[in-house]
Amino acid sequence: MSQKEALLKKVKDLEVGFIHLQFTDIMGVMKNVSILTDQLDKALDNEIMFDGSSIDGFVRIEESDMYLWPDLDTFTVFPWTSHPKEARIICDVYKPDGTPFVGCPRNALKSVLKEAEEMGYTMNVGPECEFFLFNTDEQGNPTLNTHDNAGYFDLAPIDLGGSARLDMVNVLTEMGFEIEASHHEVAPGQHEIDFKYADALTTADNIMTFKMAVRIVAQRHGLHATFMPKPRFGINGSGMHINLSLASLDGKNAFYDEADPMQLSATTYAFLAGVIKNARGFAAVTNPTVNSYKRLVPGYEAPVMIAWSASNRSPLIRIPAKRGNSTRIELRNPDPSANPYLALAAILRAGLDGIKNQLTPPDPVMTNLYEMNDEERSLNCIDCLPGSLFEAVQELAKNDVIKGALGPHITEKFMDAALYEWKKYSAYVSQWELDRYLKKF
Ligand code: GLN
Ligand code: MG
Ligand code: MG
Ligand code: MG
Repeated sequence: MSQKEALLKKVKDLEVGFIHLQFTDIMGVMKNVSILTDQLDKALDNEIMFDGSSIDGFVRIEESDMYLWPDLDTFTVFPWTSHPKEARIICDVYKPDGTPFVGCPRNALKSVLKEAEEMGYTMNVGPECEFFLFNTDEQGNPTLNTHDNAGYFDLAPIDLGGSARLDMVNVLTEMGFEIEASHHEVAPGQHEIDFKYADALTTADNIMTFKMAVRIVAQRHGLHATFMPKPRFGINGSGMHINLSLASLDGKNAFYDEADPMQLSATTYAFLAGVIKNARGFAAVTNPTVNSYKRLVPGYEAPVMIAWSASNRSPLIRIPAKRGNSTRIELRNPDPSANPYLALAAILRAGLDGIKNQLTPPDPVMTNLYEMNDEERSLNCIDCLPGSLFEAVQELAKNDVIKGALGPHITEKFMDAALYEWKKYSAYVSQWELDRYLKKF
């Protein structure tokens, strides 16, 4: 039986009534076209069309016909549906002439993965997604309130958030995720659920699925799940640490080298150096909102300085202690508002740049960087991440490595959207300014 026949049979056996054909736009928002199962045969022959001009950052009206090419490996039934059952398939976006659409973020990631493969590598990624659960008001709108006063790793028996989180773990497990850990995070109402690493494309798909499932389960508990990076001033924001390693094409971890004092391979050091060199350039992609930069400030376990360390959690990159097949680096600046396809494409290409050009990283830092003053920092040649979305977009504009990861079409649309966002934000008069200036001047 072909994969297509097997899928059609499965849909029938499981009595699935609706299929959602999903894809992700440039800003990282999931889109979908829903079909009845009698259209599935046609969908699997890549014949489902949609109007690309209505999707943010896609195309102009004159060239708007786009086709969805389903990736059969991504078929998943939604456990929260019953009669009829609903399922989804993630799709790539193609043009009518049968070529991949350059505005599709999933295609962009695939291009960088191909580049890596030509250099002899695949990338494995394990993300740590953090999020807040907030109460909703009578109208169902999110508030900033949480009944929960728990902290890191706490258990609270009457904590609404805790039972919602367990439900999330169950739903995700039913969807095929292997959940490695779930715990309360440092801030009140903040949680983290970690799922097992996979190749970069699967992980990007998983991040999109994860966010959807978490939001739906939260809603069923009368809560709102938000992946906004810094919803509340004065407490930790939500990050999406990216644990990543390269494997050689035979599947061996390419970051491990027993002979090195730190047991890290030459590939690791070059990759690290590439990430460090391009970090200011990819920040706009890994931290794409105005709000992202309010998380990247000292004192809240989020990185500010572009440095690496074997253990300390204040720099951009930490090397977790595990070695052998688990050897990896942990990149700590990305946040969950990032488009996972574009973020992984940008990070991977940054690292590959280090390998191609045989770059050497700076020495690791041993101290808590939050306590280092500007002078010590400049003596150690430590740069900072961009301080605002505007600065980040300017850095992206200068960085050909990262622009190459997105391709010219996505780069242009992405920068336009970010600058538009920045202009809107800059023109707004906030409560902070009123509190500060209204009486003073
Ligand atoms: N919430 C922190 C951040 O913004 C991370 C906290 C942690 O995982 N130790 O990145
Ligand atoms: Mg964690
Ligand atoms: Mg965490
Ligand atoms: Mg972490």
